[in-house]
Amino acid sequence: MSASTTDVLEQRRKKASAVCDLLIQQYGDRISERRIPPLDELVLTILSQHTNDVNMMRAFESLKKTYSTWEEVLHLPQDELGNVIKSSGMYNLKAKRIQAALREIKRRVGKLDISHLEDMDLEDAKKWLTSLHGVGPKTAAIVLLFSFGKAALPVDTHVWRVTKRLGLIEGNTSREKAHVLLEEMIPHECIYSLNNNLVRHGREVCRAQKPRCSECILSDTCTYHNKRKA
Ligand code: SF4
Repeated sequence: MSASTTDVLEQRRKKASAVCDLLIQQYGDRISERRIPPLDELVLTILSQHTNDVNMMRAFESLKKTYSTWEEVLHLPQDELGNVIKSSGMYNLKAKRIQAALREIKRRVGKLDISHLEDMDLEDAKKWLTSLHGVGPKTAAIVLLFSFGKAALPVDTHVWRVTKRLGLIEGNTSREKAHVLLEEMIPHECIYSLNNNLVRHGREVCRAQKPRCSECILSDTCTYHNKRKA
């Protein structure tokens, strides 16, 4: 890595840390807590793809109410599973992904359990999860952050947009690459609160259309805003 690349990374680290502190001032500091068992989190996250939280939860509750084990879900006819998770949208594809992931976990681990990821380092755990069919970097990061408390950052559309505007990553950075770059620069102890606060900031202030820069606590440090002012 050249000296200038190292300098840029160092500046971005400082900026990420300042952004984290400012957003904590604005929205508070959420403490990491383990939500649900890791395999439940994985299935829930597959259900969350391309839908909102209400429809995701409706499908997940329907699934948990109808079947008592993931083993049962694994052996269902795919259209029956699709029917149960219909409210999440793209239900045929999601049924296929859920069963493919369960099948592969059973093949590799010998049982439907991914708790062994706890003992892996972040990179290995990420590789393991993203090698499952239908599990991308964002899904893997959600499972690793929320179920295992690892320093993974799920880059959703809000995190991606806001961090690009702030200048933490370049405007042409792919979402996949953003996972790697942001995890490198964000202090580990900030990841959980920063994830929550960036999503909230993106929904309420730094909206896709017409960002509310005049009300934004990050405006002094924001590349997009400062370029527009110049
Ligand atoms: S100053 Fe504007 S563009 Fe920058 S983070 Fe705030 S709302 Fe978004």
